Amino acid sequence: MDRLFVRTPEQLERLGRIGELADSFAEGARLADEEDRFAYDHVEALRRIGYPAYTVPRERGGEGATLYEFVLYQERLAQGDAAIALGMGWHLGVLFDLDEKRPWREETFAALCRDVVERGALVNRAATEAATGSPARGGKPRTTAEPLPGGGYRLNGRKTYTTMAPVLDYFIVTAALEDGEGEFLVRRGTEGVSIDETWDMVGMRGTASHDLVLRDVVVPGEALVYAAGKAYHQTPNPYLLHIPACYLGIALAARKEALRFAKSYQPNSLPHPILHTPNVGQHFGQIELQLSAARRFLYAVAARWDELRGRPEAAGLIPELAAVKLFAMETALSVVDKAMRIVGSHGLARSHPLQRLYRDVRFGLHNPPMEDAAVAQLGRQAVQDAERL
Ligand SMILES: Cc1cc2nc3c(=O)[nH]c(=O)nc-3n(C[C@H](O)[C@H](O)[C@H](O)COP(=O)(O)OP(=O)(O)OC[C@H]3O[C@@H](n4cnc5c(N)ncnc54)[C@H](O)[C@@H]3O)c2cc1C
Repeated sequence: MDRLFVRTPEQLERLGRIGELADSFAEGARLADEEDRFAYDHVEALRRIGYPAYTVPRERGGEGATLYEFVLYQERLAQGDAAIALGMGWHLGVLFDLDEKRPWREETFAALCRDVVERGALVNRAATEAATGSPARGGKPRTTAEPLPGGGYRLNGRKTYTTMAPVLDYFIVTAALEDGEGEFLVRRGTEGVSIDETWDMVGMRGTASHDLVLRDVVVPGEALVYAAGKAYHQTPNPYLLHIPACYLGIALAARKEALRFAKSYQPNSLPHPILHTPNVGQHFGQIELQLSAARRFLYAVAARWDELRGRPEAAGLIPELAAVKLFAMETALSVVDKAMRIVGSHGLARSHPLQRLYRDVRFGLHNPPMEDAAVAQLGRQAVQDAERL
């Protein structure tokens, strides 16, 4: 199942390495959830194999992973530790997106890439605020950027949901400017930057998506990396495929747990383990069907994006990029639910791995793109088709 989408010997070798790490992360992921810890050692292990530089372009010293590869590795990583996979997905996705669209000054992007390649520096966007809700819906940041007389800015505000907050070296902070909105690249350690450990959710606990607090943070003028409205975010965001990859990874992990259980569980009403009963067979059949469709959809869209990358026709994939997320999410929720049914009440024991996957998988509903917006987009496409009939 893991190798189904491998296309080259290089991918096979990398997937093997990532898969070994992912499997070794299972226990740490459990502890992160149970004891509210952050899995620093998982991040370190990923740094040791150079994973943070996988989507840095080759000319900047990275691995230049394609979208297809990015999805392949992320899905595998999520099978072992979905929380760290989501955080790494944001980091790698930001770099993929910056390489694709080049909205920053070249020197700033080059310096960030260098830091990622040389020491595994980590970056993420801090775009959400309590007052905005999901920034994907166009909420305006309350975080302010006040221009200073001698140049530079003073930032003040609070960002919620800053995934991987304990280890981020850079935060891309959205803030209100006098005449619009801007994005600032803020380094960890800058005076006035702190993390408020607010993340206390019922799932994806290991993401440590705490609040980022900015109190009178003075940054130089170059820290304003982008200031022209939201134009570049309105172009396709293929890097967001790391989200369906992550939640399908959780579904694959749930499938494995259900198989492990069904193979070994034999109540004395049966002469064999429950794996060989028709009712359990039906559930597994449905799981295979759903996973196969969702994964083929995901990998087909990723591959098509790579083929069209840099060409105007790529914009035609926008509805499909959103549709994949929705389809994968519904699949992941349904597969985890079926795995829970196979295992029965045993899966609800606090000590059972399935109950964590069951809690974690729901979080994908609240990662972008948002379901109603994506469905509306698909609906608009159908209306346009109708107008051409
Ligand atoms: C695990 C996880 C990790 C995350 N990591 C990051 C990160 O690293 N960086 C970051 O910036 N963000 C991050 N986010 C935040 C995420 O992108 C969303 O911004 C956040 O979850 C809030 O979106 P929401 O839909 O949950 O809540 P809200 O946007 O507050 O929505 C709540 C409800 O109101 C409805 N609603 C709200 N606004 C509208 C509207 N305009 N029109 C119609 N309905 C509306 C929604 O449909 C929903 O039903 C993360 C979220 C999660 C769950």
